[in-house]
Amino acid sequence: MIERVDSVVLGAGVVGLATARALAMAGREVLVLEAAGAIGTITSSRNSEVVHAGIYYPTGSLKARLCVAGRVALYEYCAAHGVAAHKIGKLIVASDPAETLKLEAIQAQAAANGVELTLLTGAQAREMEPALRVDSALHSPETGIVDSHGVMLAYQGDLEDAGGMIAFHAPVLSGEVLSYGFRLDVGGEHPMQIECGTLVNAIGLHAPDLARRIVGIPSQSIPQAYLCKGNYYGLQGRAPFRHLIYPVPEPGGLGVHLTLDLGGQARFGPDVEWVAQEEYDVDLSRAAGFYAAIRRYWPGLPDDALVPGYAGIRPKISGPKEPAADFAVLGPDMHGVPGLVNLFGIESPGLTASLAVGDMVLARLEETAHGSR
Ligand SMILES: Cc1cc2nc3c(=O)[nH]c(=O)nc-3n(C[C@H](O)[C@H](O)[C@H](O)COP(=O)(O)OP(=O)(O)OC[C@H]3O[C@@H](n4cnc5c(N)ncnc54)[C@H](O)[C@@H]3O)c2cc1C
Repeated sequence: MIERVDSVVLGAGVVGLATARALAMAGREVLVLEAAGAIGTITSSRNSEVVHAGIYYPTGSLKARLCVAGRVALYEYCAAHGVAAHKIGKLIVASDPAETLKLEAIQAQAAANGVELTLLTGAQAREMEPALRVDSALHSPETGIVDSHGVMLAYQGDLEDAGGMIAFHAPVLSGEVLSYGFRLDVGGEHPMQIECGTLVNAIGLHAPDLARRIVGIPSQSIPQAYLCKGNYYGLQGRAPFRHLIYPVPEPGGLGVHLTLDLGGQARFGPDVEWVAQEEYDVDLSRAAGFYAAIRRYWPGLPDDALVPGYAGIRPKISGPKEPAADFAVLGPDMHGVPGLVNLFGIESPGLTASLAVGDMVLARLEETAHGSR
């Protein structure tokens, strides 16, 4: 027997859940199909849990717009739902005069995105963080940290309160665009077929691969996926910092930065390692690079203080030598398939932007005449 529902969202990561929540709260019947046995087990639990201000992204890009809108919405949401989120602020640290020149460009980019940063002298920055080696710094008061699992649980609660459901152990293997919607082939222990009128592909790293396995989605609308791993190291003992500390960004990522979890424990990373397969082992040989990068801004980092932590993989749609791609929120106006939104390349700041992404997916579906079939 073929099950039929109005709307299916593929993937119960933070973006899939935010999207499913938005659709359900707009009155749609929503089923989330999730391959794993729990919410948020992949990229959504392998990140820095930072609420980004929206500093670096090109002005007008989806990353810039959805980060700024999503950040404001996320802080309000967390306050209303009892989810821990703290605006502890971030310093972007120039360790020498050459890097100081780059801070002005970052400040201008942030201002163009509507994000105010304060330029600090080295002495002012050291007043805030005495352990820093710093020539000058930018202070971002809107940057913070959040309990990402708490956010996802709250999204799941909203979804279920609005009548939506999540089916776990339900990996979608393939599918087909039909004249009246979509057919999905679900694997796992209880293989089945599901038909739906609206489909959102939010499976993260493998979203382009799955889109290729759904017959009828134009292949030219599907980008190539690239996997860009980020390794983290933990710190034994307490770090002498109260703010998030970032170096000037490097190609592919934001540089080996220090983030603090809600318990005040420090971790460093993520670095940038392009990989061919999904794997999460932290390579011990990368430690030397971490010590060197961290000691540029924290010379007092003791020997043997770093311990291998975890890794996450950025779901990129631009390769190592290409300019960073924007988020791709591809609705019917872009690929011509009514009722379909493909989410590709939702790397950082996807957690911060999640509520805004959910709103945008809903809008993309509603603005097309055949949004629901
Ligand atoms: C190293 C790193 C650090 C980051 N730091 C931050 C940060 O500090 N702040 C921030 O805002 N953002 C950050 N991000 C980005 C953020 O983590 C992601 O944008 C976000 O988690 C993406 O969520 P998602 O729901 O799209 O994907 P995912 O979390 O990957 O969820 C996809 C889900 O789909 C499921 N799935 C996979 N295949 C199938 C299938 N065939 N059928 C059904 N289900 C399937 C998976 O099991 C998974 O649950 C970071 C990312 C990385 C990699």
